[in-house]
Amino acid sequence: MKTMHAAVARHAGRSRYGSTDTILDMTAREVQDPYLIVVTQHVESLFRMMARCNRMGWEAAQDTWRVVWKRLEAAKHGWSVVTGPISAMCQYLRDLQVDGHDPSRWVFEERVLEIKPYEVSVVCQTSSFLTDIIKTQRSRRMGSASSAAGAGGGVDWTVPRRLLKSVRTKTTRYAYRAVFQGSILHNGNGGKDVCKFCGDSGTTLRHLMYECPSFPGGMRLPGYVLAEKRRFPEDCLWLRGMLPLKYLPVARMLALSEDDEEWMLL
Ligand SMILES: [Zn+2]
Repeated sequence: MKTMHAAVARHAGRSRYGSTDTILDMTAREVQDPYLIVVTQHVESLFRMMARCNRMGWEAAQDTWRVVWKRLEAAKHGWSVVTGPISAMCQYLRDLQVDGHDPSRWVFEERVLEIKPYEVSVVCQTSSFLTDIIKTQRSRRMGSASSAAGAGGGVDWTVPRRLLKSVRTKTTRYAYRAVFQGSILHNGNGGKDVCKFCGDSGTTLRHLMYECPSFPGGMRLPGYVLAEKRRFPEDCLWLRGMLPLKYLPVARMLALSEDDEEWMLL
């Protein structure tokens, strides 16, 4: 899965030190995350099969499920004891931190899915339940990077997507991608601890973009932008250009009140 992820991310435009999750999230409309495809296809085929069994069949499947779940819980490496479609399903759930010890009730934090195998909608419901969880966990992984604090609740990619579409030159596109993916070398992603531009210790992304006197393209923010920065302080926005989803309503209002060009600058 790691190799598949890497291959798909490279196809989607991942740069050398860039984050796989970020590029797969940004290009989710054009490129599908291979993990998402595998999990949703598995759950769909399993429940399409389950839908054909009668009540006794579902009860037998539940018994198997409970036994398998216990065996997986006891195993050190879950996948090594997976033997069939039910145990694979249980292991996918365990990988996603979904509590599925009761086959008819899947729980992920405050989200609960009651499984009703006789209803036609079960395939769609299970699939969308897991899709949401996979997306949630991807966002959390993105937000766990030191330069992307605040992105854990999801990111609105409208502006980055528009920027990437609107530029014609390859170099600019590459530069934009480097910013969004956090691939500018700094001490949080494998870069050196001492800044090679000014000799300062502590090459954080913030140092490079806003504090370093010698970094090419470093910015001195004008006062009105600094005021906005105080209002919306998340690092993911100022260091990576990732707008946290929770700001989307505010951003829409700002976009309505200003003209497009000014909004893009903001
Ligand atoms: Zn510096």
